[in-house]
Amino acid sequence: MNEQLDSRGHLRHLITLDGLSGDVLSGLMDRAEAYLIAPGQPGPGDGSLEGLTVCQLFFEASTRTKISFELAARRQGADVVNLVIPTSSAAKGETVLDTLLTIQSMAVDFFVVRHKEAGLMRSIATRLGDRASLINAGEGQQSHPTQGLLDVLTIRQHKKDFKNLSVAITGDIRHSRVARSACHALLALGVHDLRLIGPENLLPESNELTHARRYTDFDAGIKDCDVVMMLRLQKERMKSGDIPDLESYRKQYCLTSRRLKLASGNAIVMHPGPINRGTDMADEVADGRQSVVRQQVGNGVAMRMAVLAAIAAGKKS
Ligand code: ASP
Repeated sequence: MNEQLDSRGHLRHLITLDGLSGDVLSGLMDRAEAYLIAPGQPGPGDGSLEGLTVCQLFFEASTRTKISFELAARRQGADVVNLVIPTSSAAKGETVLDTLLTIQSMAVDFFVVRHKEAGLMRSIATRLGDRASLINAGEGQQSHPTQGLLDVLTIRQHKKDFKNLSVAITGDIRHSRVARSACHALLALGVHDLRLIGPENLLPESNELTHARRYTDFDAGIKDCDVVMMLRLQKERMKSGDIPDLESYRKQYCLTSRRLKLASGNAIVMHPGPINRGTDMADEVADGRQSVVRQQVGNGVAMRMAVLAAIAAGKKS
């Protein structure tokens, strides 16, 4: 979406990774690295949001994204306010757009928004005035751009060359905004061997993510992979008939140490969280030496600092 760049090509909003170039993504990764003391360990900010205000509106549940955006904004020197949705005027029937435009009148510079409705982010972005920027913190099953960015940053910290990587994404891909944003980022960075693994009804529609190879057999799909990204069953977005029988799902798609041995010996294991232990992956894998799950979380703070700073820089220039 080009509307997220201004006329000079600076990031103005962050709505989706679809359509952003590998160079833009690499620039954001470089910026995030500057806010890390070590991989996965966010350090102090540089005050690039001094005097600016960030308002967070999470219409869907969140732990990692919400806390890390708030920490990121504070470490960059911003004022942060949070709208508590259940006790807001949303409960009185106000639309999301009216809520945002109302808060915009109070001189807010950034909105960080999570909402289930596909297409909402784009329509909000086009209605905001010059001052405010919108950052998508999760849009239905469509996109989760800062997650995609922190995921590729984590991969880059372990694997130097995207072009020769084999990446397997496994689980409920159909309902996963994380998978979609990861695929957009990985393809932009030149990954050729992208594999999507899951039961047929939880793989994307056949006309979506067509660059990736599809597998229903986990053992075949994971073979010799360098990166294994596991996903949760997102029951909140499933129709009741789509929810698999848990026992047989676990047998076929839980990442166990036996299965992980089929991947490359130094494969990394990722998960956006929250992990459903014993269903998505076994404890010994979640807490094992190949897991980079905690590193992803720490990188998330630095990446969100980078996105805020990049947009703030564009506003100033
Ligand atoms: N936390 C991620 C998201 O918001 C993944 C998940 O919920 O399974 O999409």
